[in-house]
Amino acid sequence: MTAKRVTLDGIRILVSAGPTFEDIDPVRFLGNRSSGKMGFAIAAAAARRGADVVLIAGPVHMPTPELVQRCDVRSASQMRAAVLANLPADVYIGAAAVADFAPRSIAACKLKKTDGCETLVLELVRTPDILAEVASHSVRPRLVVGFAAETHDVERYARDKLARKHLDLIAANRVGVEGSGFESEDNALVVYGADCERALGPAPKTELADALLDLIAARLQAPQ
Ligand code: C5P
Repeated sequence: MTAKRVTLDGIRILVSAGPTFEDIDPVRFLGNRSSGKMGFAIAAAAARRGADVVLIAGPVHMPTPELVQRCDVRSASQMRAAVLANLPADVYIGAAAVADFAPRSIAACKLKKTDGCETLVLELVRTPDILAEVASHSVRPRLVVGFAAETHDVERYARDKLARKHLDLIAANRVGVEGSGFESEDNALVVYGADCERALGPAPKTELADALLDLIAARLQAPQ
């Protein structure tokens, strides 16, 4: 029997998903192992509940969920532009694994090896923090939700991000655990708010998406 899900009819939800690729030259880039599955599952589940969903997707090979408006991007700066262009929204869920650094400039031609040169130094610069920017935007969504993938001290780092980026909720997961996290179908999350903590899973990402949306729907319904 499937549980009756709280409706999100008429709620506009903006979701970012997948990695970002930061180009070095025309053939190489810096990327990460995010599959996009968690963010796509959230977008699909929110659309099933009647939300008006916009999905900003990094470079992933995933079909567009039904009734979801998708915008494909590649780099962190493109993701930022697409997210900001799609505000205002009631809820922003930053599930993308945005690169923290990008090459200062993209070489116009393929970088070549040269005889006698054994090292290559790339200068990297910080990318914009999209989540923090949305959370402090003049048209801030009512709820801003982040993700935190950590290898250790999960709660400490997650709570630090929650406060520093001015989020309402942060969903933390431990990476480097077999059968969970990046590229996996399953995951286990602990969702932290200023005054709450809720463990979700381990479970398939599709189920976790619905459990996370239950928390979000409850917050949207709570008196302001
Ligand atoms: O700081 P860290 O990358 O661990 O934070 C993770 C959260 O911040 C995720 O929700 C991610 O989507 C978001 N983020 C962002 N822009 C960045 C870096 C992270 O929106 N440049």
